[in-house]
Amino acid sequence: MLRSMVSAKKTAIFGSGPAGLMAATQLVRAGVGVTVFERRPSFGRKLLIAGSSGLNISHEASIPEFIAHYEGFSPEVWSRFFGVFSPKAWIAFVESLGFETFVGTSSRTFVREMKASNLLRAWIEMLKKAGVEFVPNTELNSETRLSDFDSVGFFLGGGSWEDREPLWPEVFQKKFGIRVRPFAPSNVGYEVSWNPGFLQEAEGKPFKNIVFTSKAGTKAGELMVTRYGLEGTPIYFHGTKGTALIDLKPGMSESAITDKLKSVRENLSPLRRIKKVLGLNETALALLFHQTEKSDRENLEKMAKLLKAFPLELLGPRPLLEAISSKGGVDLEEIETQPGLELMLKKHPGFFCGGEMLDWDAPTGGFLIQASVTQGAVAARGMLNWLNRVVSVEQKSI
Ligand SMILES: Cc1cc2nc3c(=O)[nH]c(=O)nc-3n(C[C@H](O)[C@H](O)[C@H](O)COP(=O)(O)OP(=O)(O)OC[C@H]3O[C@@H](n4cnc5c(N)ncnc54)[C@H](O)[C@@H]3O)c2cc1C
Repeated sequence: MLRSMVSAKKTAIFGSGPAGLMAATQLVRAGVGVTVFERRPSFGRKLLIAGSSGLNISHEASIPEFIAHYEGFSPEVWSRFFGVFSPKAWIAFVESLGFETFVGTSSRTFVREMKASNLLRAWIEMLKKAGVEFVPNTELNSETRLSDFDSVGFFLGGGSWEDREPLWPEVFQKKFGIRVRPFAPSNVGYEVSWNPGFLQEAEGKPFKNIVFTSKAGTKAGELMVTRYGLEGTPIYFHGTKGTALIDLKPGMSESAITDKLKSVRENLSPLRRIKKVLGLNETALALLFHQTEKSDRENLEKMAKLLKAFPLELLGPRPLLEAISSKGGVDLEEIETQPGLELMLKKHPGFFCGGEMLDWDAPTGGFLIQASVTQGAVAARGMLNWLNRVVSVEQKSI
C-alpha cells in the first residue's frame, strides 16, 4: 500500500549530467515518476566532453584511499556516501548497459569504448524505456514552478567549461536563500612565460616521467607544453601560483648524474653530454637549452642541479572556462548530512542537491565523475525516504 502510494508521487530532476542521470535511474527503479529538465538542447554535454579523449569514470583504490582524495564533506560523510553507491556499484552499472571497463595506467578506470556518446545514448534510452520523461531547453529560473512535484533534485553542475556563467547560483540565492560560494578554477592548467625558441620546439609535446613539486605537494606524471603554459595531472593536483620545481630525471640522484656526465670522454658541452647519456626526451632537452642562461649551460654541475630541480614560475591558473572542474558552489553548511536524508537542503525539506554544484573538490582521475554519480544515488535515496515520510503523514491524516 505504502509503496503504491509512493509510486504515485512525482519527482523532478534538474540537470542531465552524470549526477542527475544517476538520481533519475535510482528513482525510476523505485517506481517513482521522474521528469528530467535540462537547460541545453541535448543531455549530458559535460560527460561527452570528459569522454572526448578517453572516458575515465572512476579509480581503482580502497574506499579509505579513495576518500583521501576528496575535500568538502568530512571523511565520515564521504564514507557514508560511498556506502550507498560505491565505485564497484557504478562500474557494475556501466557494464550492465553493455560497456566493458578496464583499469588503465595510474589505476584509472576507463570504459573500453573510449568515447562517451554511446554510453550516454544507452543510458538515456534505458531511462526513457523505464518511463523517465526528458525535457530539454528548460532552465531552472526564479519563475520555475516546483510545487507540481513531491520532491525535487538539483544536479546543475559547477562553473567550469561553460559557455556563460551559470544562472542557478543566483536562483538559489534569491529564490531559496541558499549561500553559494563563488566558483574558482580547479584541475586547471597554469600559465608559464616560455621563450619563443622553446615554444617553437616543444609546443604540444609532453615532459614524460617527471616529478612536479610545488608548495602544494609533489606528484609524478606527465606534463603537456601549451602555448600559454602547462597542462597535466601533476599540475592539476598541485598547481599553485609561484615557483614550482621539475625533476627531469627522477630515477637518478644529482651526484649520479654529475658522475655520469663527467664519465663521457669526448670533449663535449654539458648539454651534448646530457643528450648522449641521459636519455631525456626532446621537450626536456629543449627546456635545458632554451630556458637557461648561457653561463649555466656551460657549467656541468649547474646543469645536473637543474635536471633535478628545474624552477618554473607558475604565473596563475587558466580561467574557469578552461578548467576541468570548479571549486565553490552550494555552501555545505546548507546541506543536510543526517543519515537517510543526506544532501537535502536544510532550508527546503524535500529539495535535494548533488554533484559538482556543491562546494567539494577532487583531483581528476575518475574521482569527479564517481563522486557525482554517487551523490546522485545518495540524493535519490533521500528523495525516496522523503516521499515515504510524506506518504505516511498523508496516511495518518486519512
Ligand atoms: C574537459 C573535461 C574533462 C573531464 N575529464 C574528467 C575525467 O577524466 N574524469 C572525471 O571523473 N571527470 C572529468 N571531468 C569532470 C566531469 O565531467 C564532471 O565532474 C561531471 O560531469 C559533473 O557531473 P554533474 O552531473 O555534477 O554536472 P554536469 O555534468 O555539469 O551536469 C549539469 C547539467 O545541468 C545543466 N544545467 C545547468 N544549469 C541548469 C539550469 N538552471 N536548469 C536546468 N539545467 C541546468 C547543465 O547544462 C548540465 O547538463 C571532466 C570535465 C571536463 C570539462
